[in-house]
Amino acid sequence: MYSEISHQLSLQELETLTNALESATAFHIRWLSCINFTLVSRNKQSPYICTDKLSHKRCEFGRWFYQINEAELLQDKVFRQIDESHQEMHQKACQLIDKVVTEEEITHQAYVEFADSQNAFFEALQSLTRHSIAALGNIDFLTGLPNRRAFNTILEKEGNRVSRVGAVSSIVIADIDFFKKVNDSYGHAAGDKVLAQIARIFSDSIRDYDTVARHGGEEFVFCLPETRCSDAKTMIEIIRQRIEDTVFESANDQTFRLSCSFGVSAFNRDIPHIEAMAFADSSLYQAKKNGRNKVVVFDNGVIPFK
Ligand code: GH3
Ligand code: MG
Ligand code: MG
Repeated sequence: MYSEISHQLSLQELETLTNALESATAFHIRWLSCINFTLVSRNKQSPYICTDKLSHKRCEFGRWFYQINEAELLQDKVFRQIDESHQEMHQKACQLIDKVVTEEEITHQAYVEFADSQNAFFEALQSLTRHSIAALGNIDFLTGLPNRRAFNTILEKEGNRVSRVGAVSSIVIADIDFFKKVNDSYGHAAGDKVLAQIARIFSDSIRDYDTVARHGGEEFVFCLPETRCSDAKTMIEIIRQRIEDTVFESANDQTFRLSCSFGVSAFNRDIPHIEAMAFADSSLYQAKKNGRNKVVVFDNGVIPFK
């Protein structure tokens, strides 16, 4: 089972989803043991007696599940599967409990169908939980950007693609200049806020098919598909200027400015992305050495696609 939806959610939405799925599992395990107890003991006083067709909407999980944007979520296969199996499981439970109330016999077949609906529900729930936890593991918590691990996967895919189709794509490494001073002057919390703000400027400035990720510390990386170094430089120059023009604020309303240095390189069929990453890193080093607040494109006189 594969769910696309976990890749479309923000960090906060993913956290909410993961928590809701975990408590749905816990709730339904408790609920099922009460239902089974009622069926075995044939106790008519059970708090779970219900003939209510909407009981799936009223359970702890249902109250959360059906208030989120149904139309959007129900387009996702796994969500649809959760919805259908959840509804079916509750309905079958109600039908069985009804038999307890009316003192009718419960057939083997009816119980097997109830058990099947439970299996389908827990399978779908587990699948989505796995996806949302995996998606959470790919996000940097401070900035909400993809983390280094996610970026490596994206870059590797792009590396394979350019080799296959003979394209040129670019890598950019960005590093905030004198960031240590921000922490030293305004505190670590202000530093964190700056990282999130810069991440936002970066992600707002790229095209839909580009990726920007937090590489670690105050370093970010971009993957720009179908982009030669010269075009990457033009694009990154605009971003560099945006950072230069931004006024940052500390907690006690002091304002300050910052800059970033950028190293750019490209990869294609002949230059693997790993090598390009090392080239971008050495360009970044040049940018720092040449006074910072600069975009430097890798040039060893050999790379043919400047
Ligand atoms: P340069 O221009 O040479 O890059 O100087 P710099 O001060 O930016 O570089 P340096 O490597 O000396 O310091 C990086 C600082 O980034 C030190 C570290 O405490 C800070 N830093 C790394 N990660 C985080 C974070 O998540 N939050 C905050 N607030 N600071 C961080
Ligand atoms: Mg650094
Ligand atoms: Mg730095």
